[in-house]
Amino acid sequence: MSRIWIEKTPEYLNKEISLYGWVDSRRDHGKIIFIDLRDKTDKVQVVFSPDKEEIYDLAGKLRSEWVIEIKGKVNPRPENMQNPKIATGKIEIEATGLKIFSQANSLPFDISNKSESVNEEVRLKYRYLDLRRQRLYQNLVNRHRIIKLIRDFLSDNNFIEIETPILTKSTPEGARDYVVPSRLEAGKFYALPQSPQQYKQLLMVSGIERYFQIARCFRDEDTRGDRQPEFTQLDLEMDFPTQNDILQLIENLFKELIIKIYPDKRIKEFPFPRISYQEAMERYNSDRPDLREENDKGEKDPNELAFAFVVDFPLFEWKKEEKRWGAVHHPFTRPKLESGETISQTIERIKKDPGIPLADQYDCVLNGNEVGGGSLRISEPKLLEAIFEILGHQSEEISAKFGHLLKAFSYGVPPHGGIALGLDRIIMILQNEPSIREVIAFPKTGDGRDLMMEAPSTIDSKQLKELHLKTFNS
Ligand code: ASP
Repeated sequence: MSRIWIEKTPEYLNKEISLYGWVDSRRDHGKIIFIDLRDKTDKVQVVFSPDKEEIYDLAGKLRSEWVIEIKGKVNPRPENMQNPKIATGKIEIEATGLKIFSQANSLPFDISNKSESVNEEVRLKYRYLDLRRQRLYQNLVNRHRIIKLIRDFLSDNNFIEIETPILTKSTPEGARDYVVPSRLEAGKFYALPQSPQQYKQLLMVSGIERYFQIARCFRDEDTRGDRQPEFTQLDLEMDFPTQNDILQLIENLFKELIIKIYPDKRIKEFPFPRISYQEAMERYNSDRPDLREENDKGEKDPNELAFAFVVDFPLFEWKKEEKRWGAVHHPFTRPKLESGETISQTIERIKKDPGIPLADQYDCVLNGNEVGGGSLRISEPKLLEAIFEILGHQSEEISAKFGHLLKAFSYGVPPHGGIALGLDRIIMILQNEPSIREVIAFPKTGDGRDLMMEAPSTIDSKQLKELHLKTFNS
């Protein structure tokens, strides 16, 4: 017989069934033993009476979190014992069989208590237990539903999902790379992708036309707020787009997601307002303004979703410490072209005063958080080379680092553009959670440690040798 989930038990009234799960709690009332049996769907009350001696004695040994099978009959509860607050509150299971699969030591913290009362380092060390909490489980369920909806929505819009490599070469997106030493080529390293940016652009050269990926990105940044060294993006790219095509796609995706998965929430303004970077800075002094209304008490409604697009960012910013121009988004971002201008004229204009030109770049903002960003791209090799020069790259460096892209663009490249949305942050906001760690199954601490696996960790001298590495300790 297929598995019966606890939430379905009321449908089996007066029938014999088997249930599997964890002992959530045990109560003894006089001679009767009650347990609440829990699986991922719900809890149900199980009753052991002394007349079934053998299983009654076994039930006497049960403790919280033991893993068991119950055979039993689904009985209606006496009227005065019904619990209208829970879905299985009108029934109980009269146990006729009990099998113990696994005993459990007492847990390092009580999973029925609110997680805020438990030290977060302890929660992360025992994350597999922390995830037994209903709230965290629900976060993972909704994360799954969101990703599934995204996949369906984009598939319906002619996008296909393509995996791109994790072992790759450094991509300049403004952060430090994580690197992986090569065993076969002494002294050489792979870099983990800060995003699939170059691959998705190369896929446009391949004629894929519409790509997306639920992509893992890796950025070795110093601890800054609520960040993770690895995080998940919805990454997408399309060819022949206008900025409006991309923004509308994202708006419609969010609209469907909110209607289908968060029907209690309300999008404040649709289509999402579009605010220029300059206006955002002048009016809100922020490029990710929080546009929610405040009530009389100065509170914001957690069910109100104030999305906006911030557009028309400057192309470059002056990096004071390094005394050079840096890309506001990344070097592949297209400058806004003036009408009638040739590419050579654009290059001349941008080189003259790099601080002035605007970019075809857009950010997606939600309730004061930046939840995504993207741009139309440069597909003219000449213009791209000029941008690299302004960013301070020498010509040998340009061909070493970006030669593959410039070459690819010489074989017929369509104009293209895309965007990436930070899924962890979006799910955090939609689930009303205070931190992205609450919506990631196995997050790291703010300073990049996995307390459960104890990573990072040392590796033994044999591994180091194979990788042609010496550390200060070895
Ligand atoms: N790769 C960019 C990022 O991670 C997004 C994009 O330009 O599509 O921010």
